[in-house]
Amino acid sequence: MHRSIAGKLAGLAAGSVVGLALAFSAQADQRFITIGTGGVTGVYYPTGQNICRLVNRDQATHGMRCNAESTGGSIFNLNSIDAGEMDFGVAQSDWQHHAFHGTDRFAEQGANPELRSVFSLHPEPFTVLVRGESDIQSFEDIRGKRVNVGNPGSGQRGTVERLMDEYGWTMSDFTLASELPSREQGQALCDNRIDVILFTVGHPSAAIQEPIATCGARIIPVTGPVVEQLVDATPYYFSATIPAGMYPGQDEDVQTFGVGATLVTSTRTSESAVYHLTRAVFENFDTFRGMHPAFEVLTPEGMVSQGLSAPKHEGALRYYRKAGML
Ligand code: GLU
Repeated sequence: MHRSIAGKLAGLAAGSVVGLALAFSAQADQRFITIGTGGVTGVYYPTGQNICRLVNRDQATHGMRCNAESTGGSIFNLNSIDAGEMDFGVAQSDWQHHAFHGTDRFAEQGANPELRSVFSLHPEPFTVLVRGESDIQSFEDIRGKRVNVGNPGSGQRGTVERLMDEYGWTMSDFTLASELPSREQGQALCDNRIDVILFTVGHPSAAIQEPIATCGARIIPVTGPVVEQLVDATPYYFSATIPAGMYPGQDEDVQTFGVGATLVTSTRTSESAVYHLTRAVFENFDTFRGMHPAFEVLTPEGMVSQGLSAPKHEGALRYYRKAGML
């Protein structure tokens, strides 16, 4: 955004105009911050909106305007931050780890040493949702079915591929591997165009609520030795439970594994921008926690210590030290 404006002005090339462009760019950098989120029915999107609401309430103090955009999800957000197109993004803890270290799906493009963490957010259990009448009882049963594996760029797509590697499966193990974005998958399940939704998401979320309420979809557990081994072998996957009562008719806890949602940025985002965003969340912590039911489990201590593989940004550290949180 501000970069492209600066680029256009700089492209005019006259000395005085370039001077103006640089001044404009420096000022704009302070003024606008963007947060990449996910599909509108997930939890990332309201998370970004809520963070921006708190930042924008203090606009008179810091002069910044925060905007949260709907995007393709974690991997898209990490790539956009790397490319300088976004200042902040929400990302799963597994993909934060791999983007910083240049491993797994990030091996080809290499490590992003400029990636920085700000804080962690809600847990995201890996959620398998199937049609009500389906005979699927376990993750192994999805073989041979019509499965939405998620759009490229989403966190769940990466996590699905990782889990499939562990099982030794390929996409041809499914009769259909569709790539619908999260906002479209519930309708496709209810229309009987797919049998299974795989989504790494906080609970409750509209994306899961809608197909359960509309067509009686069910959540299936993801357990067993393959998952246990994955959880044991990595710092960013953990055992997770989708508690009973999250959704209509869901009377029992569902066991699965999960990741943590995290907020990330880059060394290129100014210390002041990160400081003021961090401050807006923690100075208004009770308000923030009340903004989404998936945030109920959050504590300030957990948010600064869990699921963060990239080093913390200097602006966040400045706030945590000042607030005595570290
Ligand atoms: N975990 C998903 C992703 O990384 C997004 C979940 C959400 O939209 O809340 O793409």
